Amino acid sequence: MIKGSCHCGAIKYTLDDSPTQAIRCNCTICRRKACILAFSSPDRLALDADASVIAEYTFGEENIRHQFCAKCGCSPLGRGIGPDGNEMVGINLNCTEGFDLSTVSIEDFDGASL
Ligand SMILES: [Zn+2]
Repeated sequence: MIKGSCHCGAIKYTLDDSPTQAIRCNCTICRRKACILAFSSPDRLALDADASVIAEYTFGEENIRHQFCAKCGCSPLGRGIGPDGNEMVGINLNCTEGFDLSTVSIEDFDGASL
């Protein structure tokens, strides 16, 4: 179980999952936002946020919906379609509360080359 939020708290979530792996992606946006992403299934995510506060950004092939807080600008999560064709959610572990990053193996992901 992981709890997370944006900085101002307008977007809060609980993820009913215990990821052991995460990626540090070097694509043009993850590099700028310093995202460390762990992936899970959207049905494990309980989101507590007004829809009006969730802004969304897509670029390139628009496969990933980068979601961020319209108030404080933090990017607690993103959504997209996984390699298996199923909807997935990516949690930015840098936006979690009390989560020990040393408990996951963080792999460098070469998103810049995609
Ligand atoms: Zn916020």
